[in-house]
Amino acid sequence: MIPVNEPLIGNKELEYVTDCLKTGWISSAGKYIEQFEAKWAEYCGKKYGIAVSNGTVALEAAVQCFDFEPGSEIIMPTFTIISCATAIVYNKCVPVLVDCDPETWTMDVSQIEAKITKKTKAIMPVHIYGHPCDMDPIMNVAKKYNLKIIEDAAEAHGAEYKGKKCGGFGDISCFSFYANKIITTGEGGMLLTENEQYAEKARSIRNLCFKNDPRFYHTELGNNFRLTNVQAAIGLAQVERIDELVEKKIWIGSMYNENLKDVKGLQLPIEKDWAKNVYWMYGIVLDEETGYNAVTFAKALKEKGVDTRPFFLGMHEQPVFHNMGLFNDEHYPVSENIAKQGLYLPSGLTLTEEDVNIVVSCIKEVL
Ligand SMILES: *Cc1c(COP(=O)(O)O)cnc(C)c1O
Repeated sequence: MIPVNEPLIGNKELEYVTDCLKTGWISSAGKYIEQFEAKWAEYCGKKYGIAVSNGTVALEAAVQCFDFEPGSEIIMPTFTIISCATAIVYNKCVPVLVDCDPETWTMDVSQIEAKITKKTKAIMPVHIYGHPCDMDPIMNVAKKYNLKIIEDAAEAHGAEYKGKKCGGFGDISCFSFYANKIITTGEGGMLLTENEQYAEKARSIRNLCFKNDPRFYHTELGNNFRLTNVQAAIGLAQVERIDELVEKKIWIGSMYNENLKDVKGLQLPIEKDWAKNVYWMYGIVLDEETGYNAVTFAKALKEKGVDTRPFFLGMHEQPVFHNMGLFNDEHYPVSENIAKQGLYLPSGLTLTEEDVNIVVSCIKEVL
């Protein structure tokens, strides 16, 4: 079976982790945390990095940093992971959805302005499968209506919009370092910001909002969102070779592009002229005329030894939100179509040219 993903762990990762274990620095204190935070912030062009235990809580802490009044609205794409919506709901705010662009699968920026009300406080752009959102229109609307940007760059390590790194745009930007992300700490996440107050608040939320003096005196509710030194050690070694990892993803993307471009019935990922796509996961959308949808196609490929994953199901199609009275009777046709017809192919960093060729010939055989 060719797996959908496999992380690439090397000697440096082993060396740094061994250092943690040998010296006993295995909790969330220790030198690798700050080094990892500083290095990732620098890479993305931000001042402060606050490492947390995963990308989901990075988003949750990010929303909390702004102290929005309950009932405040945050505009986000329907086509994304549920973490984006839970971050908003857990902070007593309301997610407001827009559809996605049929080519890039990122939020349709032309739909944002119509969704703005007196309660709107922020926009949450999410870069999808390695391709950046069209950030200029988003930043312009945010400026016009005085809205915050909470940028989710979990799937876009090293991707660029008009030459600027993804994660470099948000008032707060969030990352995941889950095992399938381009750089990984196994489980992990980070918030980035230019703003010292947000950085301080995020650090406080991460650590139960302890005060230094007196220590067990709390004026705010926090959480335990701490990352361990052992995880940060892996992360530091990974950031040190990010260029190699990003290049490998782009190579995989270009191999698939080259070999699948003439196959009828498939929509392939694109790279807008303002974008650097890092092809985090290589997604394809099947035309209905092929007779396949994502489920039946995934099954056919699995029988040939190729593992795939379906695309996200839009937030407006989630029973859990319908039960909360959210998004009932809302429809977003682009998202609905790609959720039904889209899946991503093996895209792991350990993939070889031979693997790609096998995947491509299996696709051609099935179709
Ligand atoms: C992976 C991912 C997350 C969540 O990260 P975890 O570390 O798995 O909690 C958030 N947003 C996006 C877009 C992701 O792809």
